[in-house]
Amino acid sequence: MQISLKKVISLFERSATPHRPYHVQWFITQKCNYRCKGCNVWRNKQKINELNTEEVKEGLDILRKLGAVELVFSGGNPLLRKDIDEILEYASRYFITTIYDNGSMALQKIDALRKADFAAISLDSLDENKNDYVKGVPGAWKNAMNAIFRLHDEGIAVGVSPTISQFNIDEIIDFTKYFINFGVPVWYCLYWYDQPKKDQLFKIGKKVDEFEIVDKGRFVEVCDSILELKRKHGGIFITERTIQTLKHLFLYGERTWTCQALQGFFMIDPQGRVAGCHLQEPVASIFNLKESWNSEKFRKLRGKYEKCTRCAYLCYIFYSLYSDVLSNMEILFTQQRNMKLLIDNLRNARSRHYAASSRSENETKIIRETSR
Ligand code: SF4
Ligand code: SF4
Repeated sequence: MQISLKKVISLFERSATPHRPYHVQWFITQKCNYRCKGCNVWRNKQKINELNTEEVKEGLDILRKLGAVELVFSGGNPLLRKDIDEILEYASRYFITTIYDNGSMALQKIDALRKADFAAISLDSLDENKNDYVKGVPGAWKNAMNAIFRLHDEGIAVGVSPTISQFNIDEIIDFTKYFINFGVPVWYCLYWYDQPKKDQLFKIGKKVDEFEIVDKGRFVEVCDSILELKRKHGGIFITERTIQTLKHLFLYGERTWTCQALQGFFMIDPQGRVAGCHLQEPVASIFNLKESWNSEKFRKLRGKYEKCTRCAYLCYIFYSLYSDVLSNMEILFTQQRNMKLLIDNLRNARSRHYAASSRSENETKIIRETSR
């Protein structure tokens, strides 16, 4: 975790500047070594020219000048890029930088992860068989669990990221309690299906009937339980406002937010194409984004996206709810608090690690099992 005073000041300055993007998600590669059932990315066999290291750095400079604050690297699996170490080092000088992994690469790339502000490991169930079924790869659960606890013990700011779906809705509260008890924060995603559209930036979601949340009442109960847990404990990185918005959507089918795609947030694909979100068509290249940002074309697109009701991905809802300057400052303060919480947890984890260093790996595993 790298957070110098200079970076904090610069982040607050950028957050306080109106009309600039807060959050950018960069799908930095389409390569993936997993076969998740609800994902379209690994099914895409089309060869593309992904940006090289220098081009990515150039893109990062453009994002910084544009005033972006937060950057998430995902894919595919971004850790499959050979230059990810260099990219993370460069990005985390300027942005609150998060990187996703499915748990398969984190231990091989542990030194690269030390350069990010947060590492998020995706895991969907505490049940090994269930998780491996969702991920389409045997051993996925073990990889993720090992990665989460090893990174945590190593003092890397790691969180676990489950996708809430009908498949795991009944265990999501136990799952959350399990990790927050160990001081590992939880970031939720929500299963959503991309209705296919020609020319969308990136086809991520895949329709899987057993994942689609049909039991809306159960989902509302889960929202209430998350709220209750969140009020009692730290370590649940979803805001109360976001949970209430989701709850309202599932209870009444009503959207109480206006989409801020291409305003508060946007996406970049592995070729450097920019779109408001991954379901919309590319509308610029990262290399001419500065000129496009205040253009008439973008103004019209923003108006169109504000009326769009096509998806309810959790991250898009969140960044739409928190898109004005005051809300940006609020997220940044929350993130600072989260970082402090993580640092405290990591210090505690380190003491536990030293205390346990004479124990064998198996003994440590047993301790975790019995603490459940
Ligand atoms: S969801 Fe992520 S880890 Fe799974 S196949 Fe898709 S890109 Fe890979
Ligand atoms: S609602 Fe917003 S994020 Fe979702 S598809 Fe429409 S423009 Fe994209």
